[in-house]
Amino acid sequence: LSRGQAIQRAREAFGSGRTRPLEFRLQQLQALQKMMSEREVEIITALKQDINRSQYDTSLLELIGINNEINLALGKLREWAAPRLVEKNLLTMSDEAYIQPEPLGVVLIIGAWNYPWAVTLVPLVGAIAAGNGAVVKPSEISGYSSLLLATLLPLYLDKDLYPVVTGGVTETQELLKQRFDHIFYTGSSAVGKLVMEAAARHITPVTLELGGKSPCYIDKNCDIRVACRRITWGKFVNCGQTCIAPDYILCEPCVQGHVVECIRQTLLEFYGPDPKSSPDYGRIINQTHFNRVVGLMEGYAPVLGGQCDASQRYIAPTILKDVPPHSKLMQEEIFGPLLPIVTVSGLDEAISFINERDKPLALYIFSSDKQMIEETTSGGVTVNDVMMHYTLISLPFGGVGQSGMGFYHGKHTFDRLSHQRACLLRSLGMESINLARYPPQDRQRARERVPVGIRQLQGGSLGRGKQEQQQ
Ligand code: NAD
Repeated sequence: LSRGQAIQRAREAFGSGRTRPLEFRLQQLQALQKMMSEREVEIITALKQDINRSQYDTSLLELIGINNEINLALGKLREWAAPRLVEKNLLTMSDEAYIQPEPLGVVLIIGAWNYPWAVTLVPLVGAIAAGNGAVVKPSEISGYSSLLLATLLPLYLDKDLYPVVTGGVTETQELLKQRFDHIFYTGSSAVGKLVMEAAARHITPVTLELGGKSPCYIDKNCDIRVACRRITWGKFVNCGQTCIAPDYILCEPCVQGHVVECIRQTLLEFYGPDPKSSPDYGRIINQTHFNRVVGLMEGYAPVLGGQCDASQRYIAPTILKDVPPHSKLMQEEIFGPLLPIVTVSGLDEAISFINERDKPLALYIFSSDKQMIEETTSGGVTVNDVMMHYTLISLPFGGVGQSGMGFYHGKHTFDRLSHQRACLLRSLGMESINLARYPPQDRQRARERVPVGIRQLQGGSLGRGKQEQQQ
């Protein structure tokens, strides 16, 4: 099936109306749930081949989250899809007024390679729940996962409604020329811009789940040992290739040594004296990214780690201290196992440091002081831990500014991929009330035609708010 045919079929299948009944959507979600449980071993193996991720981490970081999303959608779909009554004003008092979530049509989901199942299937859960068709384009860089997804989805889900398109940049560019009803993109900001440009040609709404540098501030008065254990986990899991990994540390010079020491001890505890032989430590996805990450280290002497092996795409967990704020390491998202520490004079300077840069996807604050949360912005924030806001699916997940637009997870995905249709259902009775809005707008005649009860409404336009009318 060509890409064009796949999209055409998805469109026709959507047009047939079979996604409208909630029973159909629930059945598809159950089939996806079945796929996740029956094929778990194959999925884990594909990720091992793609990125050398351990079975334990794959379950913890990817599979549990997907299953939670499916379970939630199965349990809540009827509630999410129900019409929501809204407040009425005097003119609509006897009408029915509600918001009806409706499917958008066919959604394009383009995913990145670092969590190839989560970034495609979590949006897919929302797309199915909302009654859309979806064309899924996994990343060619995580090739084993991509192929497996393309094999499995048609075995479990409606083949026409949810096709998987594999391929690389050219294929994605071809897809982007087509018209979709929403494009849900996860990946780098550079490609995000291209996606948005392509979407503009069809006035297609987009969700952009991008990356960037997520700062991590450690207050000198916090429990640095615990803080460093949490940071070490978040930074080095998946070999640093996590969009919400702490990108760099900000702390005062007086605690920098202690921070390094605590991370050193934690690394030893997590991965042993030789992380290369630890079954829990991952690898860089490919040679291009390996070279890029190694290149970021050039010119610096790491205080910890720094060892590389191109043949395995291995880079040791690496800490760099006293990193100058304008160095290469501080220009772009690291997306690898390098953790620079930049020193600041205190909380105020740390806040300015964050505010002078692009709005981050995530911010981590190890402090009991609320000042930083109040005086900064970011897609999400976790205080006294890293990444955990992502796991609570009642919280919207997404970026702000350069780190992306639109948010998802749980009900937020359903809402994002639905049209919120404004519905006002009136009766043909009570016509006398309507006379006020019809021409001719001769004031005297109009006054005669309008029942006393609504004269008070006539002070201004019919669009006045309820509160204003009541005054
Ligand atoms: P990638 O290279 O796999 O690209 C993502 C998708 O874009 C792929 O499907 C690819 O085929 C397509 N693509 C690549 N170049 C293209 C082009 N020129 N034109 C059209 N399509 C193109 O992944 P990546 O960009 O390396 O992903 C890493 C980035 O993703 C990081 O910045 C990371 O922070 C971010 N990310 C964000 C989230 C999030 O939820 N916010 C999650 C994961 C990753």
